[in-house]
Amino acid sequence: MPGVSGGAKTVLVTGGGRGIGAAVCRFAAGAGYRVAVNYAANEASAEALVRAIEAGGGEAVAFKGDVGSEADVLAMFEAVDRRFGRLDALVNNAGVVDRKQRVDEMDLARLERMMRINVIGSFLCAREAIKRMSTRHGGQGGAIVNVSSVAALLGGPGEYVDYAASKGAIDTFTVGLSKEVATEGIRVNAVRPGIIDTEIHASGGQPGRAAAMRDVVPMKREGTADEVARAILWLLSNEATYITGALLNVSGGR
Ligand code: NAP
Repeated sequence: MPGVSGGAKTVLVTGGGRGIGAAVCRFAAGAGYRVAVNYAANEASAEALVRAIEAGGGEAVAFKGDVGSEADVLAMFEAVDRRFGRLDALVNNAGVVDRKQRVDEMDLARLERMMRINVIGSFLCAREAIKRMSTRHGGQGGAIVNVSSVAALLGGPGEYVDYAASKGAIDTFTVGLSKEVATEGIRVNAVRPGIIDTEIHASGGQPGRAAAMRDVVPMKREGTADEVARAILWLLSNEATYITGALLNVSGGR
């Protein structure tokens, strides 16, 4: 794992309490980052992760907040400012799926929740991170990794086209933002995970989905949260200083 030169860098990981985000937090702590662990509701998971990081000699703090709420995002970034005094990296990882539905069954509440959390949440957090990291605003530069999905390429037919479209928006957001802040010391990249073994599938009412879909993956297996987290840490690191606007599939070839 590439180390963090200069020490004391701070990363904020949205949805860091469980799944891919939790793996990012663990690896980031191991690489020397101080870690701000955002979560929405599951305080027990986030606090257990913080204790595990501390037990390993790292520094982490859990911050509750809904990324789809502007008030929560503002309060969270202010709390991170107070606790750590600097911000060097943002991982826009928080995201949700919903129950399997066709587009002609989706109601407004579902669509608004999907776009509010997955798309607007990422914009709001990036906005606040840029205000702190951009040299245009007196910052020291930094890196952002957005968590998209191969669903952005596949479209999610019969299952969740809304989710896939929200990730398509994240891809375009990544490309546009990377160009917008390219001269301000901030790199912006995205990973597109494929089928990863986390609790997100159960949250969409399909607990066995990852194992059931092994056959559609060229590598014939689901991925792990750790495998996605390693790619994210690499994109954040000084090993990737000339990479911005990249969309990296982490999907076993799917
Ligand atoms: P997960 O296991 O369900 O964990 C989701 C995390 O996001 C949890 O920590 C949750 O907080 C948090 N979260 C949910 N809504 C939030 C909100 N409104 N504000 C702040 N935090 C919120 O999910 P995962 O599988 O690790 O997915 C992480 C990211 O990877 C998502 O963007 C997802 O779309 C993407 N992805 C996953 C897969 C896959 O197969 N797993 C594939 C492609 C892309 P609580 O713990 O408090 O509930």
